[in-house]
Formats: sequence, structure tokens, C-alpha cells
Amino acid sequence: MTDIVPQLLDWYRREQRDLAWRRPGVSPWQILVSEFMLQQTPVARVEPIWLAWIERWPSPSATAAAGAADVLRAWGKLGYPRRAKRLHECATVIATEHGDAVPSDVETLLTLPGVGAYTARAVACFAYRQRVPVVDTNVRRVVARVVHGRADSPASVRDLDDVAALLPDGPDAPVFSVALMELGATVCTARTPRCGLCPLSDCAWRSNGFPAATETVRRVQRYAGTDRQVRGRLMDVLRGNNSPVSRAQLDVAWLTDTAQRDRALDSLLVDGLVEQTADGRFALAGEGD
Ligand code: SF4
Repeated sequence: MTDIVPQLLDWYRREQRDLAWRRPGVSPWQILVSEFMLQQTPVARVEPIWLAWIERWPSPSATAAAGAADVLRAWGKLGYPRRAKRLHECATVIATEHGDAVPSDVETLLTLPGVGAYTARAVACFAYRQRVPVVDTNVRRVVARVVHGRADSPASVRDLDDVAALLPDGPDAPVFSVALMELGATVCTARTPRCGLCPLSDCAWRSNGFPAATETVRRVQRYAGTDRQVRGRLMDVLRGNNSPVSRAQLDVAWLTDTAQRDRALDSLLVDGLVEQTADGRFALAGEGD
């Protein structure tokens, strides 16, 4: 296990993907934006939206000054638009309470709207180069395989300790963290790990003959037919109109199940992503006046 650090660092320096938010000159705020977007959306869909976003709103104060509807439109089809609303709120708090600078310590980061344990650690590590363990599903899977000899692992309080035990000292620590994540994203993938390309000579799961998973790890949810898809259809209609729309205009977005459509619209209203005007029409947040 002692070779994992040099093997992984060498591999990452050779093989890392050229992702826009990893390039020189990207600010902590812009890294924070990428982490919000990447929470439940793949890299390929995030990258173009992120590039347009940081060009338009490069700082927390610029984002805070934008209208809520503009932010929801710019979020486009990334999905889970509550993240856009929380990012807007986060920008406002950073601009007004932190001098327009993203805090660098995990505890303060955790006080920001929409910033959970993973995002706080990711920003401290990737933006401020701190030696803090960062655990996402990719890292958890790699550690389960390499260290514990298991196919995968559900989230556990031990995760942070497991990763902390692997981290090298000094400036290699944040590079090691991102390399661990990269290995899980590109080589040690959930369904078809490409062990022939793996830089690690010592992997307990491989040594044990790849034993099957013994516990159910949560699978990615299907999308078609879900309330999430219906919410997305309704948001598409509202994003495409600069003025409030009638109920009939929304209704045609989902004709399969009217009760499901009503439930989705109610949830968008409750989440504050959609507003109803005095005359009963509907608009994106901030455009219902
Ligand atoms: S040897 Fe295979 S299972 Fe083990 S870490 Fe590498 S890719 Fe993953």
C-alpha cells in the first residue's frame, strides 16, 4: 500500500483530463461554482455551462447582482435547479458577509447556503490546496476496492478517516485527492473497472479475485417518467418565456399524467423556483410581478 502515493501521482500527472476548472487562473469562486454544478451532473454537460457562467458572472458579487430568473435560465438543463437557487444565495452571502472572497476553512464553508460536507472539503482542497480528505462516490469506491478488497461501499462515517490515512504530507496532498477521484471517474469505474490500465500495483479487491458486492449500493435513479423529468419539462417552458405563461401553456408540457404534472408544479412553487402572478399565470422566480 505504500506505493499508492507515487503510483497515483505519476499516473495523474500523465493522464489527467484537461478540465476547464482545473486550469491556472481559475478562482476559488469559480471552483465552487463547478462543484455546485458537478454535484449530480456529468462533466461533459457541466463544462460548457460553467464556461459561459464564469464569463458572465466571474465573482460572487457579480452572481449576487444577477436576477433569480437569469440564474435559473443560465443553469439551463443541468438539472436539479434548486442548486442554482442555492448557488445564487451562496453568492449573496459571500459577497455581503465575506468581502466577496470564498472562505478557505471547512467550518466556515459549511455555513454557506448549499455547501455540504463534500463541497466544503472539495473547495478547501482544490481551491486552497489544503490537506483535507475529500470523499465522493468515486473516491469511496476506489478506497473500498484498494484498501478493503470490496467491490463498493455505502457511505460511512469511516470514509474520511480511510482517505485521511492515505493522504501524503505537503503539497502533494491536494494532488493526491484529485488523482484518487480521477482514477474512480476514468479507470476504476463502477461497472467496468479497467484494471489493465490501472497504475496501482497493490489492490486488495483484485488480489482477492474481485469478490461480488455483498451489500446494495444505491444505483443511479432512472429519469424517464419521474417527477424530476416533469419538473424539467415545466422549467423548460418557463425558461423559454420572458413573461409569465398561462396554466394551459404549462399543461401541454406533460400530458401523460395530470396528477403528476400538478404535483411537479406544486413542488416548483414550494421550492421557490416558480412564482404565480396575481392573475394566476406562472413565471420563473423573480419574474412573477
Ligand atoms: S486494480 Fe482494478 S479494481 Fe483495483 S483500483 Fe485498479 S482499476 Fe480499480
